[in-house]
Amino acid sequence: MKISQFWDEEIVPALIEYIRIPAKSPHFDSDWQRNGHIEAAVQLAARWCKAHPLQGMSLEVVRLEGRTPLLLVQIEPSRKESNGTVLLYGHLDKQPEMSGWREALGPWTPVIEKGRLYGRGGADDGYAVFAAFGALRALQEQKRPHARCVMLIECCEESGSYDLPAYLEALSPRIGKPDLVIGLDSGCGNYEQLWGTTSLRGLVNGVLSIEVLTEGVHSGDASGVVASSFRIARALLDRLDDSRTGMVKDKALHAAIPAERVAQAKLAAEVLGEQAWRKFPFVPGMQPMLGEAAELVLNRSWRPMLAVTGAEGLPPRANAGNVLRPKTELLLSLRIPPPVDAQAAAQRVKQILEADPPYGARVRFEAGQAATGWHAPQTVPWLQQALGAASRKHFGKDVMWMGEGGTIPFMAMLGAKFPQAQFFITGVLGPHSNAHGPNEFLDLGYAVKLTACVADVIAAHAAQAGAGALRR
Ligand SMILES: [Zn+2]
Repeated sequence: MKISQFWDEEIVPALIEYIRIPAKSPHFDSDWQRNGHIEAAVQLAARWCKAHPLQGMSLEVVRLEGRTPLLLVQIEPSRKESNGTVLLYGHLDKQPEMSGWREALGPWTPVIEKGRLYGRGGADDGYAVFAAFGALRALQEQKRPHARCVMLIECCEESGSYDLPAYLEALSPRIGKPDLVIGLDSGCGNYEQLWGTTSLRGLVNGVLSIEVLTEGVHSGDASGVVASSFRIARALLDRLDDSRTGMVKDKALHAAIPAERVAQAKLAAEVLGEQAWRKFPFVPGMQPMLGEAAELVLNRSWRPMLAVTGAEGLPPRANAGNVLRPKTELLLSLRIPPPVDAQAAAQRVKQILEADPPYGARVRFEAGQAATGWHAPQTVPWLQQALGAASRKHFGKDVMWMGEGGTIPFMAMLGAKFPQAQFFITGVLGPHSNAHGPNEFLDLGYAVKLTACVADVIAAHAAQAGAGALRR
């Protein structure tokens, strides 16, 4: 059966069922155990895998006490003498609903429109387990070789993968030492070629709180005597980044950008052109932060950037009187360059914000998440060639390399655990696919071609491992 037919007949119906399950990550569903949606999602995937068995496959839903479950699939090598292990990664937990879905669409309402499957979690990252199966199934049907493969499908990614280290530890003997990691939870610059992710930014978030009074008072009475907590917040944020340019000021929060990554960013920018920024839903008249596409690529992959993602202490405007409020709390989200240590960055941000508080206000920064990014090791020639060939064969265009702006905590964990492994990190999160936002979609045509590319790369891995070529 061709990969496209397998997608149409076997994968899409499963993904439709999967989208209906509100399997929100524990971070967004504290009662996830009782609600049972994550369980339903992992059961659905396990059931489907068993109904579409691969040769030499063993499968288990692994459960460590008190943790989200993990789907582990092991597949024997196609030939006994095949060396190496390929680790394939995906996740089944989801982001929350978000508002702003178009009419007739919704997070738990699967809809196919113009070759795109809409709904929460289809692209991020429900498709991964099915695509990995589709790739291996194609190889086995075509009698092409593959090494031993292990699929790790977790259910905690959108909460920062805090359950994953325990599973990596517990399953270490069964995982072995992968020499190729294929991560299927990343992005693509367009839907016209294969994209490999070279790096991920890290993340530090936390709450900045500024207290100026023990209770709110009449603003006409107090303003001019009591400093506004919001104005103090503005001043403190200006310590972190330049409010005119968005550039983070502190050197310790930056990293030098390797020359190879700058060159790849230029190539990606040539391919992307204005798509580098037009993929975002700008309001009419709004311009990107910089004019040059290559700089935008580097801005979103290698430079620290601050966003304020939430607030407290500000009443909704219908309830707001003329009050000088006692406090302002802002949720800060700082993306940090791939090699910057997140714990150190969180400490640095705390120092910067809490030092010498204006007017002696009570200023606190409590860090929440601190996740270090990831920078890929140098890609070896056989993998580089295999990816190029796969992209040209299935897309008619060359493979492209780009850093991604988001954080996948799993990558930092795996990079540290398997420093000798090669990494092919890719995904279907292209322009407008809007994972985490409304109107998330999976581009089905792209997913089919990506599946074919993954199959080719696994075959190329087996070929070079069999030939005994040096892998490093
Ligand atoms: Zn994801």
